[in-house]
Amino acid sequence: MVKEIKKVDLGARILASESEEYQTGSWRKEIPVVKDKEEMNKHVEIALYCPEAAIVYVGGKYSHIDYKFCKGCGICANYLKKVIEMKRV
Ligand code: SF4
Repeated sequence: MVKEIKKVDLGARILASESEEYQTGSWRKEIPVVKDKEEMNKHVEIALYCPEAAIVYVGGKYSHIDYKFCKGCGICANYLKKVIEMKRV
């Protein structure tokens, strides 16, 4: 049974670029590789799924994955299986 949410507490989000001293990229055992940049342009919402805000869009277009912060969790590749592939480092 799904619980109805009536109130959402305010939270905070720290952008990766604001946290230079906590670079999580060194945690990585696998690396996401984008196979189709045009397809990434159709799925801007994927940036919201990345826990490290490492998927960068500029002006609404896919730019790159910031590997200083990508920790290789694979959430993006799981969401867009045909577009992003995880490879061993
Ligand atoms: S694997 Fe994907 S979702 Fe996970 S941190 Fe890296 S870019 Fe973000």
